[in-house]
Amino acid sequence: MSIKENLIVIKKTFKNPECLLIAVSKTKPIGDLKEAYDAGMRDFGENKVQELVDKQAQMPEDIRWHMIGHLQRNKVKYIAPFVHLIHGVDSFKLLKEINKQAKKAERIIPCLIQMHIAKEESKFGFDEVELEEMLTSEEIKSLTHVNIIGLMGMATFTENQDLVRSEFKGLKALFDNLKGRELPDNFEMKEISMGMSGDYLIAQEEGSTMVRVGSAIFGGRG
Ligand SMILES: *Cc1c(COP(=O)(O)O)cnc(C)c1O
Repeated sequence: MSIKENLIVIKKTFKNPECLLIAVSKTKPIGDLKEAYDAGMRDFGENKVQELVDKQAQMPEDIRWHMIGHLQRNKVKYIAPFVHLIHGVDSFKLLKEINKQAKKAERIIPCLIQMHIAKEESKFGFDEVELEEMLTSEEIKSLTHVNIIGLMGMATFTENQDLVRSEFKGLKALFDNLKGRELPDNFEMKEISMGMSGDYLIAQEEGSTMVRVGSAIFGGRG
């Protein structure tokens, strides 16, 4: 099936038509992105800074670019002028650097806090204790050039759908809990980025507002 046909099929299966579909185009050639663009896609996700910058320069200006992967602090400056949303904020240090570069670029950059929800060992993401420390710190209030609009999480890579569902449920529960609390002014809990090609339907059933889908649109990455 073509990219356009894949997009139509995916949209049809959505449990929540309001959920934002982000086309994860990492490793794919520009021609594939253009095909998705021509089919109406405007939200694209990449996980490497260099590739994101290169593709942004070659694609139309009305695309919203999502940085979805682990972001190294020394590379924030390259995407700060244009990035639409940074999904993978996995440390307080990174958030501070984003704030610094956003200020230089005279922007306020929307961010999601990546929570470590998977049972499997992973290097990236906050745990709840670290999140609490950040939320209650004095320093967080001084970050005037970031806007934390929600949470992001990646489930365990497994066939076990019950495990995936319970991890998504956990993220949603945390999200709801934060929503009900007094938070610093630069926090506004609106979005939960969870779900990829293999689990976006479960994620939507559990309350996802944005899904990051790559291989189901563009085919496997080999
Ligand atoms: C690659 C990637 C995706 C998309 O994965 P698919 O399984 O191809 O849909 C989503 N989120 C992140 C963070 C990724 O790195």
